[in-house]
Amino acid sequence: MAQLKFVNVNKVYPNGYHAVHDFNMEIKDGEFICLVGDSGCGKSTTLRMIAGLEDITAGEFYIDGKLANQMSSRERGIAMVFQSYALYPHLTVAENLGFGLTLEGIDMDVIDKRVAATAEILGLTPYLDRFPRNLSGGQCQRVAVGRALIRKVSIFLMDEPLSNLDAKQRVTMRSEIKQIHRTVGATTIYVTHDQTEAMTMSDRIVVMKSGGYVQQIGTPYELYFNPENLFVAGFIGEPPMNFLRGKVESGYFVNDAVEFNIKDIVDDAASIEGREVVFAFRPEAIRLPKDGKPAADEFLVISKVDLTELLGDTTNVYANVGSVNVILKVNPHDAPKMGDEFDFVVPHKAAYIFDAETEKVVPSSIKRN
Ligand code: ADP
Repeated sequence: MAQLKFVNVNKVYPNGYHAVHDFNMEIKDGEFICLVGDSGCGKSTTLRMIAGLEDITAGEFYIDGKLANQMSSRERGIAMVFQSYALYPHLTVAENLGFGLTLEGIDMDVIDKRVAATAEILGLTPYLDRFPRNLSGGQCQRVAVGRALIRKVSIFLMDEPLSNLDAKQRVTMRSEIKQIHRTVGATTIYVTHDQTEAMTMSDRIVVMKSGGYVQQIGTPYELYFNPENLFVAGFIGEPPMNFLRGKVESGYFVNDAVEFNIKDIVDDAASIEGREVVFAFRPEAIRLPKDGKPAADEFLVISKVDLTELLGDTTNVYANVGSVNVILKVNPHDAPKMGDEFDFVVPHKAAYIFDAETEKVVPSSIKRN
């Protein structure tokens, strides 16, 4: 097992492109960390610096307290699973699993034992004599994970390992990888652009933004309920959080459609007086007003319905609040119809204010659960 520490780690590629800015983090033994963000935000670059496949331009990277910037990949005790599983087509599952160990000159009987044990963890025992062409995509991916697992390293790196699988296989493999992590306990860094993968698998998530800037590091719960800025608020959650832009006037959030007294939901309303802000709430956080009226700790919103989508357990309602499009999740039995006026409330504890200029959340001690 291994602890990792990054101190102001930066990557500038030879062409001058600054792909990662001041990455700072401590990762505990056995943690499962996801790096998430849009394509090109520096996730793979960060992973490749951990693996020793890319130089670290500036800053320090430690493994178990030892400076690792100059360590070879082998010294780091790392195994990596890539997006393309690249199995050897002419080798069986057993031979694919054992191939790396064969190269290392390990005794055949030791290899056989490790292959059997790894296949057992991954549920591949019945397929050991098969060739990759006779496996499903999910089974191939399991072999690829197995090739990394069999090396018994303390750090496991995965770069979008599920992106070649269909949606159903991805869901299955997600829980299998979690299960393997629980069994093996290796410190795992997992790169994905898929926020659902990150939310469901991680102990903690690192959200990155294009240009290689870390936006927030936290548990899935922290990121979902306490996003520190507009980027994280909009990135985590599907459908995404709703944003109403407006201004603070005399302690009220005001735009073309609403006027909310926000003194109770921010710690210091005076500090944002006169500022452009964003009032935000999640699609599922809305409620129907009791007797048509908001309670003292609710904001009433009047919207006009554009479109509804019945998903079964819920209905997505696409509506307008003044000039802004919002998405609301509603119990199908309460769903409005196209063209209806739809009045709903946002509980104070589900409302966020972000500064429109700095994009940072305005501090609030309101409890979010
Ligand atoms: P992600 O994994 O988040 O999609 P990457 O880490 O692969 O992003 O890339 C981050 C940025 O660095 C991208 O803009 C990419 O074009 C750039 N980049 C990646 N590799 C190189 C390289 N060898 N030379 C110059 N720029 C690179």
